[in-house]
Amino acid sequence: MKVTEHLKSAKKTLFSIEILPPLKGKSIQSIYDGIDPLMEFNPAFIDVTYHREEYVYKKREGGYLEKVSIRKRPGTVGICAALINKYGIDAVPHIICGGFTREETENALIDLQFLGIDNVLALRGDSIKTEPAFVPEPGGHEFAIDLVKQINAMNHGGYLYDDMQDVAPTKFCIGVAGYPEKHFEAPNMFSDLKQLKAKVDAGADYVVTQMFFDNQKFFDFVKLCRKAGISVPIIPGLKILTGKKQIITLPKIFHIDIPHAFYEELEKCKDDNAVREAGIRWCIQQCKELIASNVPCLHFYTMGNSEVTRRVAEKIF
Ligand code: FAD
Repeated sequence: MKVTEHLKSAKKTLFSIEILPPLKGKSIQSIYDGIDPLMEFNPAFIDVTYHREEYVYKKREGGYLEKVSIRKRPGTVGICAALINKYGIDAVPHIICGGFTREETENALIDLQFLGIDNVLALRGDSIKTEPAFVPEPGGHEFAIDLVKQINAMNHGGYLYDDMQDVAPTKFCIGVAGYPEKHFEAPNMFSDLKQLKAKVDAGADYVVTQMFFDNQKFFDFVKLCRKAGISVPIIPGLKILTGKKQIITLPKIFHIDIPHAFYEELEKCKDDNAVREAGIRWCIQQCKELIASNVPCLHFYTMGNSEVTRRVAEKIF
């Protein structure tokens, strides 16, 4: 079932999660172990992130350094297929522009359709860690909107080589990312919203937001989206803060703020356990307020920690 069909038929706010593929070499069991404790809350769908290659330097004989390309977390599509097979749940693979030519994207999308996967989250992807800015693959896409256009074209039977006969249109439901606190590269919120509106006009069916800890920023964002003519569902993304280090790393990595009231709570915490408890309490409050405002779904970035998501879900769903 498509994400938008879940949202349409829902009688109350839905629960969904995002998971990461395990580090290369780990078994799929680690994924199941993370999902099993959350199944009783009936996740409507599970997103699986995509992680592109990184470059590392390996020391070789003679002391010279070899630049090696590695993918630490492969397996997005395989995990999606395994989730559908094991739980009968809808899986949403993240598809990115980075590292893919248009043709590789087309072939990856064909694989997804053959596997019965008809949901995707279409993203540009971040730059490779060793590169200062995002560099599109030669023959690939520069922005998520170009990927949305390609998927939408395939949904209308448009493949790259137009001399094909009797083509079967794909049936993808397309999600895209939105940023209540603005994407860090956008010069201002107005331009970021303009690009988001363009993604929706190009065929995106719904928006999932970057994590945020200040609900007011989400409410303001939704208002601005509606004013800009973006009428598709907007799903809030939530992360439960679980350790002292994250007070610094989350704002740095995701370009988001920790609101003052939450920060005051966190400052009082003596150790990681206390931070985790404060994080759970804060998220429960966020969820209650978001549900009261009739959001269609609460989407949790589990980041490999399903226990805290379970603690929140127990109080909410
Ligand atoms: P875009 O929509 O292309 O926007 C990128 C920037 O370019 C923005 O500043 C936008 O305003 C601007 N822009 C857009 N179109 C144009 C245009 N035509 N002209 C000029 N400027 C333009 N990354 C991963 O690598 N793997 C994942 O699995 C993953 N999952 C994510 C899930 C969610 C819910 C979110 C919010 C992010 C995720 N990311 C993931 C991170 C994402 O790839 C980065 O935030 C990336 O920097 C931007 O992706 P985007 O799809 O929002 O890009």
